[in-house]
Amino acid sequence: MTKRIFRSTCFVAIAVLIACIVLIMGALYSYFSSVQMNQLHMQTALAAQGVNNEGLSYFDGLDISDYRITLVSPDGSVLYDCRADAGTMENHLKREEIQEALKNGEGESRRFSSTLSESSLYCAQKLNDGSVLRLSVAQKSIFTLVLGMSQPICVVLVVAIVLSLYLAYRLSKNIVRPLNELDLDDPLSNNDGYDELSPLLKRIDRQQKQLKRQANEMQKKQDEFTAITESMNEGLILLNPKGTIISINPAAAKLLDAGQFSKGKNILTVNRSLALQEVISDAVAGKSAEKIIELHERHYQVDASPVISDGAVGGIVLLLFDVTEKEDAEQLRREFTANVSHELKTPLHSISGYAEIIKSDLISPEDIKPFASKIYSEAQRMIQLVEDIINLSHLDEGADSMSFEDCDLYLMAQDTVANLSSEADASDITVTLSGDPAVIKGVPHMLSGIIYNLCDNAIKYNRPGGKVNIDIRDLASSAILSVRDTGIGIPPEHQNRIFERFYRVDKSHSKEVGGTGLGLSIVKHAAKIHGAKVSVESTPGEGTCISLEFPK
Ligand code: ADP
Repeated sequence: MTKRIFRSTCFVAIAVLIACIVLIMGALYSYFSSVQMNQLHMQTALAAQGVNNEGLSYFDGLDISDYRITLVSPDGSVLYDCRADAGTMENHLKREEIQEALKNGEGESRRFSSTLSESSLYCAQKLNDGSVLRLSVAQKSIFTLVLGMSQPICVVLVVAIVLSLYLAYRLSKNIVRPLNELDLDDPLSNNDGYDELSPLLKRIDRQQKQLKRQANEMQKKQDEFTAITESMNEGLILLNPKGTIISINPAAAKLLDAGQFSKGKNILTVNRSLALQEVISDAVAGKSAEKIIELHERHYQVDASPVISDGAVGGIVLLLFDVTEKEDAEQLRREFTANVSHELKTPLHSISGYAEIIKSDLISPEDIKPFASKIYSEAQRMIQLVEDIINLSHLDEGADSMSFEDCDLYLMAQDTVANLSSEADASDITVTLSGDPAVIKGVPHMLSGIIYNLCDNAIKYNRPGGKVNIDIRDLASSAILSVRDTGIGIPPEHQNRIFERFYRVDKSHSKEVGGTGLGLSIVKHAAKIHGAKVSVESTPGEGTCISLEFPK
């Protein structure tokens, strides 16, 4: 801007200067012309006086180099000319100044001579004898005038140009200084320069304030967003349509081992999982997609949603959340369904086989009874299995739907011993109960189920003549139930797995003794609902002790 003002000012100053010089030269030229004409009139009058007094002898020895004197007779013939031979000169009667002098006594004219390329001034005066005396002088052209004054003009021009340059420089600096000194962050603070700028500065000030407000709001929103995403357990990633990470929260960075400088990198350089690539390509195509990926030995669901703006995909939002529990439960459910089907199929096949044989009359009437008892025992197994499954599904519903009340474990154990006495006698097992009454908060039928299953197993997996002892201890902060037997024991490698659904150490033995493989899972589940800790001690061939510690 300074340069522009400087250039404009210089241009104006020099243009004005040149115009002034031209105008002044014009005025000078016209002034000099009139002065020259007046002088010529005076010279002519003096010369006419001389010729009137002295006649043609006046011209003798006259040295007038700048002037030309011509004497013309009243008929126009030239009587004398100081520069040419009068005899050879043409008739001058028609000359404007001669005619005027003959008529009025005095005349003047101005003519351009193309041969001399200059104009001449003529002045004529009528003499006493009727002839006319004419003086002429060459008038200097304006070019000659300028040429003659070229030196002072040049000096003036140089001085004026230097002065213009200096003043233009100072002027442009002064004009621009208030603008340079403006504080655009606070434009109204220093507006001493130009009143004309006030509306503009007020508007800039308003816009600055508006921008500041908007920036503050955006910062607030950004802070809120950051606070939310940073405290999220779920991973949140924002990508542009090319897959470059725009934002990634700490949970996602940790899950993908992305590190803190992953912003700006392509997501595929951070994780190359095929499932991730597929959901991203779907989102880029404008479709929402979800897939399960495995990270750090856990399962995560990745939801990819496209962000549509102006009809095109402007970005992608990836949400990663832990679905390990859900996946495990799903897996468990699948396994459970397969196991249940399998477990039910075996007794059904047996029942169907025995019934078919009876139907076909291939057996003697005395064999019908053993067949019927086999059908009965298989049906009992199925009933037991279905009951266990129903129990488990009740337990799966959790503690919310159950009512807790005071339960005495000792009394419950007494009932169980009584209920299982016939089985114990049949297997030649002695069941004893020791300890004290211990009252805890619990669901009665569940606690009975725990004691029953543990005692039932202790009898089932025992030897003839073996012993089972149920011990109840009432401690200050907990109650302990232990069921100890002198049975076959559980090998160490199986001890961790006996609480799994349908897990049996010896499948055929378990089936022989009517086991379903669900008893201990019911125990574990019920114990979990009561907050009890389960522990197993067992030595193969010597016996097993399963204890539960119930908090009070
Ligand atoms: P089941 O209905 O087959 O008894 P459980 O879940 O009650 O199923 O027990 C799982 C497995 O644990 C049993 O098949 C058995 O092999 C083993 N087991 C449980 N209790 C005892 C015990 N007291 N002594 C020896 N083995 C046992």
